Formats: sequence, structure tokens, C-alpha cells
Amino acid sequence: MTPTWYREPSETPVFILTITAVLVLVGLTAGLTVCIVPIIVLIILVMSYGSTQAHHQELMKSATPVSPTLTPELYALVKQCERELQPGDMEVYVTNSREMNAYTFGLSTPKVVVLYSALFDVMDADELKFIVGHEFGHAALGHTWLNTLLGGMAGVPMPIGAAVLLTLAFRWWNRICEYSADRAGLLACGSLNSATRALVKLVSGPIHSEEQYDRIMAAIDAEDDNIMNVLAQSFATHPMIIDRIEHLRSFAAEKRIR
Ligand SMILES: [Zn+2]
Repeated sequence: MTPTWYREPSETPVFILTITAVLVLVGLTAGLTVCIVPIIVLIILVMSYGSTQAHHQELMKSATPVSPTLTPELYALVKQCERELQPGDMEVYVTNSREMNAYTFGLSTPKVVVLYSALFDVMDADELKFIVGHEFGHAALGHTWLNTLLGGMAGVPMPIGAAVLLTLAFRWWNRICEYSADRAGLLACGSLNSATRALVKLVSGPIHSEEQYDRIMAAIDAEDDNIMNVLAQSFATHPMIIDRIEHLRSFAAEKRIR
């Protein structure tokens, strides 16, 4: 046996003391984290609530509300989408912008959908139904508040590795939410062709001929052939358009929507 009798007598008690101190500190830090996380999430939720309320107020001043008197045709279209998807209490606004975009937000009711005016220069009625239905889908499925909640959790300070993992998971969920909202858009417009054209026009802008449409479609089709695009998608909040179209095609086939 190796002789150890010459060990300095205080070595063992000090070692035990050190180990105890480490365990106590780890325990305290973990406990503190467990207590602090809900507080940080709550603070972020309250701040988000405040900023969405302010954004709503701002829209009421600067954007056009969709109403039977101000925008009768669009109002009828929005009501059709509402009947189809029953997303709950919704307010829809049109804001002046040359950008082609739409979004929804709100932690409480009514949820708000904002449509950018450029959409009306490019989309026909069925394509617009897809866009409105997509946003109603986000609202109906609770994505607006789930996004804020998950975003709040992602705001909690954490080691860089954990933050990257969390971001990847969050974005993955974001992308699946887009597929779900696209399904709602398809149900609202009832046509795979219109849903696909709406998605294509969102990236291409106006389309003037079928040849132009086929050319753009071929370019979109090649999107997922590039490995860099596929890798970049892991960090994106939205899937590639070709993936969205392919998901729509299989959902349409499943539900016999043509
Ligand atoms: Zn979306």
C-alpha cells in the first residue's frame, strides 16, 4: 500500500469544506436562476403588452381600418376569411407601404392584422384571401402570444451555447408555425393555385405573364438545391418558399383541395 501518513492534517477537512462550498454555491445559483427566470419572462411579457398596445394606438391613428363603409370589398373578403377560420375577435388595418407584407400581433383580444397597401396592387381576391387567412391562422393558433412568451424566455441571460441551441429550437418552431398559417391561408382561399401564386408574388412582386411566372417558379424550385440555402434556413424564422409550396401541395392533396 502507498504510504499517506505524512499528509498535512488540515488537508482533508479543508478539502471537505471546499467541496461543500462548491455544492452550496451551485445549489444557490441554480435556485436563484429558477426564481429569476419567471421574473424576467414576466417583465418581458409586460413590456411586450405595453408595446403592442402602443402599436395598436398608433395604427388607429395612421392606418385605415377595414370597415363596411371605408373598404366595403375588402371588408367582405375579410368576413369570408373570418367565417372560414373563426379566429376570434380580429381588427384588420391597411397601412400605406410599397413593401409587400402582412403581419398579426396582439396578446389580448382583439388581435390585429396589418396589410401593406402594395399587396392590393399585386394580388387578386383569392390571393388576398390566402394572405388574410394566413394571418388569421397565426392569431387562431395562438402564435402571437406564444411567440411573445417564447421570445421572453429567449431573453433570459444564459451561456452562449445554450442561447444558440434555444434560438435554433425557437426558429424551428417559428418555421413550423408558418406551415400551419399557410394551411389556414389555403383553407381561406380554397385554391392551391391561388395560395401558390400568392406565395410566389410575395417574393417576386407583380407577375405580367405566364412565361414570367414559370421562370420565377423554376428559380424558386431550385432554392433547396443549394446546401447553403438549406443550412441558412436553420436560423431563419420563415421556411424557403419552395418548402412552403411543397407543404401546401401535400396538405391540399390530403384535404382534396385543388
Ligand atoms: Zn406568417
